[in-house]
Amino acid sequence: MNLLMESSEDCCVKVAVHVRPLIGVERLQGCKDCVSVVTGKPQVQIGTHSFTFDNVYGSGGSPSSAMFEECVAPLVDGLFQGYNATVLAYGQTGSGKTYTMGTGGRDGYQFGLIHQAMSALFSKIENLKHCTEFQLHVSFIEILKEEVRDLLDTTSMGKTEASNGHAGKLVVPEKPSVQIRETSNGVITLSGSTEVDVRTQKEMVACLEQGSLSRATGSTNMNNQSSRSHAIFTITLEQMRQPNPVLPAGSPAEDMTEDYLCAKFHLVDLAGSERAKRTGSEGLRFKEACISPADINVEETLNTLKYANRAR
Ligand code: ADP
Ligand code: MG
Repeated sequence: MNLLMESSEDCCVKVAVHVRPLIGVERLQGCKDCVSVVTGKPQVQIGTHSFTFDNVYGSGGSPSSAMFEECVAPLVDGLFQGYNATVLAYGQTGSGKTYTMGTGGRDGYQFGLIHQAMSALFSKIENLKHCTEFQLHVSFIEILKEEVRDLLDTTSMGKTEASNGHAGKLVVPEKPSVQIRETSNGVITLSGSTEVDVRTQKEMVACLEQGSLSRATGSTNMNNQSSRSHAIFTITLEQMRQPNPVLPAGSPAEDMTEDYLCAKFHLVDLAGSERAKRTGSEGLRFKEACISPADINVEETLNTLKYANRAR
C-alpha cells in the first residue's frame, strides 16, 4: 500500500507502502510473491527494481497498527492544533485499499485506519474535555466520474433509478444533493453533503458503517462500481477552549483566552488506480496507495510504485 500524507500548513507529503499478503484465491491460482521488503529499510524490491519510501510495511503481521501509529496518529494529533490532513489509499483494485482504510462495511472495518483514527481522536478528547468544548461532524461521500453520492443521506437509500431504462439496477440518490463548486479564488468545495453531528465514538462508527454499507449496496447493483469510485470520509473537529474562569466575563483578556480551532481530516479510499484518471485526485491534499504482492499483478504494482515515487 502507498500512503501519501500531507499536513496543510507545511504541505509535507509522505508516502508509505503497504504490501498485503497473498490471499487465498491468488494462492489457488499458483501466484508467487514477487514483492519483497528490504529488512531494516523503508524499501521494496520487485525484480531488479527497488524503491524507497517514508515507510514500508511488509506482508506479515498486523495489517495496519504499525502503519497507524507511525503514519496516521501524528495527523490525529495535528487536528488538535488546527492542522487539516488527508490520507489517500491508492493502488490497483484488489491491492487492499478498502481493507486498510476500513471502509468495507461490516467485515473487519475495526482493524482499518479510520476506525483506529476514531479511537485515538476520542481518547484525546476524553483527556482534554475538562478545558475544551468539542464539536464533531462527519460526512461520507462517494465520487463516481462527475457524480457525487451522499452515503449518509438516509432519504436516498434504497431508491432506484427508473429513468435510465435499468430500473431496479441502480441505487442512486434521486436528487443531486451534493454539488461540486469552484469558488472565485479557485478552491473546489462540496456543498449539500450531509454533515452528521456526533458526540460519541459509537455514533461516529455507526456513520462509517452505514455509509460503507450504502456504498457496498450501490456497488453490487452497479457492477462493482466501488472499484471505480472514490469514497471520502471526512471528520470535522471544532474546538473551543473554555475561557479562564478567574477573569471577569466579557473582559478583553477573556476574549484572548477563547481559542477556536477547526480542522478537517479527509480519509479517502480511491478508485482502483488501473482506471483512475490522474485528475480524479486533484484538489485532494493527502494520499495513500496499496500494492498486491502477486506476480500476476507485477505491471500494476510497478506502476503504483513509480507513481508513488513521483508523488514524493
Ligand atoms: P481494494 O479496495 O484495493 O480493491 P480490498 O481492500 O478489497 O482491495 O482487498 C482485496 C482482498 O484482499 C480482500 O479479499 C481483502 O480481504 C484482502 N486483503 C487486503 N488487505 C489485506 C491484508 N492486509 N491482510 C489480509 N487480507 C487482505
Ligand atoms: Mg476497494
